[in-house]
Amino acid sequence: MQACPTCTRRSTAGAADHALAYLPGHKVLCPDHHHWSTGPRDGLDVHALPELAHAQRHHRRLLRHPGAATALTWAQSVTTRWYDQQDFLAPRWQRRTHRLQNANPHVVPTGTSWALHAGPLVTYPETVTLARALHQARLPTQHRTGPVPASHPAIAAFLTRTAQALDLPRFTPPPTDLLWTWIHHHPRR
Ligand SMILES: [Zn+2]
Repeated sequence: MQACPTCTRRSTAGAADHALAYLPGHKVLCPDHHHWSTGPRDGLDVHALPELAHAQRHHRRLLRHPGAATALTWAQSVTTRWYDQQDFLAPRWQRRTHRLQNANPHVVPTGTSWALHAGPLVTYPETVTLARALHQARLPTQHRTGPVPASHPAIAAFLTRTAQALDLPRFTPPPTDLLWTWIHHHPRR
């Protein structure tokens, strides 16, 4: 991916503003210059989305805990599915996409669709929030009579806490939601 051009200029004393770097998820954003790397030649100005830097701080903190990477992978799959299905958080994500689009008028998005191009970025704050919720959840993995029923108090409490963390007034994932797969099969800890 293209590293932050301002950082590159600084580290090369102005000799270059383009450098390729391997950037893991928690480094895609340069919080100093509000640059989000999207590809080998591209990046986005994310000044308009301060919530990304906030999420990145939580992301970095989360990575210090063993098992957090698994929670992140799950959270990513869940929010990607929500994004594709335009579920729960669609209005918030659309507003974020518009802000991003206005701040980057020169950018031609991948596949000519901003929705595709910006997906991982606009869902990032909720992905990190959900990952923290998954990481902190303490759910029963087995019930006397078989799989843990959806009505189990621990599951209800988990959904309530997750709704609060995501700042959603209601949160009732349908039975087919990927989150249920996690709830029923999340790794024992
Ligand atoms: Zn930078």
